[in-house]
Amino acid sequence: MIFAMPNKPGEFSRFDFPETLPAPIKGIWAILRNNEMLTWPEKVKFAIGLLPAMVGGQPYVEAQDGLTVSEWMKKQGVPDRVNDEVFIAMSKALNFINPDELSMQCILIALNRFVQEKHGSKMAFLDGNPPERLCMPIVDHIRSRGGEVRLNSRIKKIELNPDGTVKHFALSDGTQITGDAYVCATPVDIFKLLVPQEWSEITYFKKLEKLVGVPVINVHIWFDRKLNNTYDHLLFSRYLSFKCLCRHVSNPFNAGVGLCSCRRMDWSK
Ligand SMILES: Cc1cc2nc3c(=O)[nH]c(=O)nc-3n(C[C@H](O)[C@H](O)[C@H](O)COP(=O)(O)OP(=O)(O)OC[C@H]3O[C@@H](n4cnc5c(N)ncnc54)[C@H](O)[C@@H]3O)c2cc1C
Repeated sequence: MIFAMPNKPGEFSRFDFPETLPAPIKGIWAILRNNEMLTWPEKVKFAIGLLPAMVGGQPYVEAQDGLTVSEWMKKQGVPDRVNDEVFIAMSKALNFINPDELSMQCILIALNRFVQEKHGSKMAFLDGNPPERLCMPIVDHIRSRGGEVRLNSRIKKIELNPDGTVKHFALSDGTQITGDAYVCATPVDIFKLLVPQEWSEITYFKKLEKLVGVPVINVHIWFDRKLNNTYDHLLFSRYLSFKCLCRHVSNPFNAGVGLCSCRRMDWSK
């Protein structure tokens, strides 16, 4: 994990998880070897605090779902500065929200992957733009099996049978889509608007009330040259989360691409 440092532009603080060490030594090593960001007392308290998570495995991770990241850090005696320096950035990178809102389970799932798996902290980037390199192979696969993919086809209403099952999806162009099974995978705020009135009292759908989308701005910056002094990696930062690709696929030697994901920001933190 590599963190951009707000007070030292162009410098980075690293947590390296060596492949050769077993868990949990790998995690403790990563924390104690961290450079620049944390003091020795902070590193020691952080490592001791995380130890139960590193040895407790999946059952321990799942049991932490009731606590926010900030609450868990307090319970484990991890200094506030670790929360501010490390977990504001991690919480925003994982879920676009702050540590006092995010479930600790979410952080521990990610951290345990880094600690338990040999290549758990390896980052991979698409070798091109997502429509071509991610979406088109999926579309090709569906079409090769006789399926159909329609773009610009917005669902306007989920029409029901008298028994409450789906009759058809009504699209905004007037088309009706019928099928053996129906899946609606729109973002949650849109799905909440589409859920038929008749389903609103069903417990399963009632739980949707608590789900809210997080507004996120995503900015891609394309440079006409290689970026110096950075990594081909995810860079955590309290303010922004950067994904940097220092090589451009079509021109690996001369051009560089920086992808920058910009999250909802509270500038006071
Ligand atoms: C800035 C950012 C960076 C991210 N980085 C990563 C990453 O590095 N790695 C990773 O694994 N994940 C990443 N994610 C998360 C990942 O993008 C999402 O988890 C994933 O895209 C969710 O997929 P989905 O199909 O559930 O929803 P979406 O991708 O949101 O797809 C929902 C689809 O529903 C369509 N739709 C909306 N309304 C209607 C309607 N009425 N009728 C029909 N269709 C409709 C939309 O057009 C959209 O195509 C990132 C997310 C963001 C915002």
